[in-house]
Amino acid sequence: MAGKNYYDILGVRKDATEKDLKQAYRRLARKYHPDVNPGDNTAEARFKEINEAYEILSDKTSRKKYDKYGDKWQYADQFEQAAREQSQYRGFDPGGGAYHFSGDIGDMDSLFDDLFGGARGRTSSRQARPRRGQDLESPVEVTLEEAFHGTARTLSLQVEEPCPVCQGSGRIQNLPCSNCRGAGMVAGVKRLEVKIPAGVHTGSRVRIAGKGQPSYGGGTAGDLFLKITVRSHPAFERHGDNLHVTVPVALATAVLGGEVQVPTPRGGKLALKIPAETQNGRVFRLAGQGMPGLAKSTRGDLLARINVVLPTRLSEKEKELFRQLSEIRPA
Ligand SMILES: [Zn+2]
Repeated sequence: MAGKNYYDILGVRKDATEKDLKQAYRRLARKYHPDVNPGDNTAEARFKEINEAYEILSDKTSRKKYDKYGDKWQYADQFEQAAREQSQYRGFDPGGGAYHFSGDIGDMDSLFDDLFGGARGRTSSRQARPRRGQDLESPVEVTLEEAFHGTARTLSLQVEEPCPVCQGSGRIQNLPCSNCRGAGMVAGVKRLEVKIPAGVHTGSRVRIAGKGQPSYGGGTAGDLFLKITVRSHPAFERHGDNLHVTVPVALATAVLGGEVQVPTPRGGKLALKIPAETQNGRVFRLAGQGMPGLAKSTRGDLLARINVVLPTRLSEKEKELFRQLSEIRPA
C-alpha cells in the first residue's frame, strides 16, 4: 500500500513546528476550499487530503505514531501489542523492553502481513492456527449536521467469503475446488448498515467490530473501520468541538443593545442578548452549544462573532440624523 506522505501534502519539513503546520494548513485550505473552487473535483480531493494530513499531524499522539509507523500508524497499538506478545513467546523479558522496533517501514510491512493476513491470494494452509480476518476500511463522508446528530449509512463492501461450493476448504475429494481455484474464498459484496456516532471529525476512524474480512479457518473476523471526512460547512467553522459562526447585527442593535439570532448546528436559532455598545468583532460564547464530544459526554461551545452591518440606501432623514450625530460627537 503506497502511503501518502502527510508532510509532503502540507508542503512542510518533517521537523515542522505546530505553528508551521497550522500556517501551511491555513494557506492550502484557503486555496483549495470547495467554496473557492466550485465543481472542481481535483481541488476538493486536495482539500480533503489537506484536512486529513492536518488532523493527523496536528495531534501530538497521532503525529508520533505516524512518524514511527508511516501510513500504518493507526495500527501502532496493535504493532506494539504484537511485539510484546512475540517477545514473550521468544522468552524475552517483556518488562525489560527486550523487543525493539527499528521504525523501519520495510520491517513493518512484514509484521503487518503477519498481523493482518498479508497479500491477497495467500491462503492460510501454511498456518496451523486460524488467523484473524483482515480489517477493512471504508471512507465515509458526512455533513457537519450529521456529525452533530450522528447518522447511519448503508455500505456495500467488497469482502471475501468462504466458497459455497467447497465450504471454504478449497478442495473437493482431494482435488482443488474449481469454483474458488483452491483458495477456499471467493469475492463477494456485503451490504451493511452502520451507525456513525455524533461528534466525529475528519480523520476519525469508527470501528465496527467483527465486520471486516472473515477469518480463514474459523478464527475471529477482522474489524471494519469507517474513515470519516466531515464536509466543511458554509456557516460554521469547526475548531475541535467548538464552532465559530458570524452573526450580522444592525448598527442600532449594536449601539443600543438588543437581541440577535444565532444559528445553531442543531438547526434553528438561539436568541442572544447583546449589551449596548457592543463592538464589531466581539465574540460571545454560547457554552455547550457546539459539537458533541466523540468519546466524552461533553459538548463544545458555539462562538458567535458579531458583524455590525452598516445601513445602506439611507433616506434624507436618516442622513440628517447621522449629520446631527457627528456634530454632537466629532470623530
Ligand atoms: Zn471452493
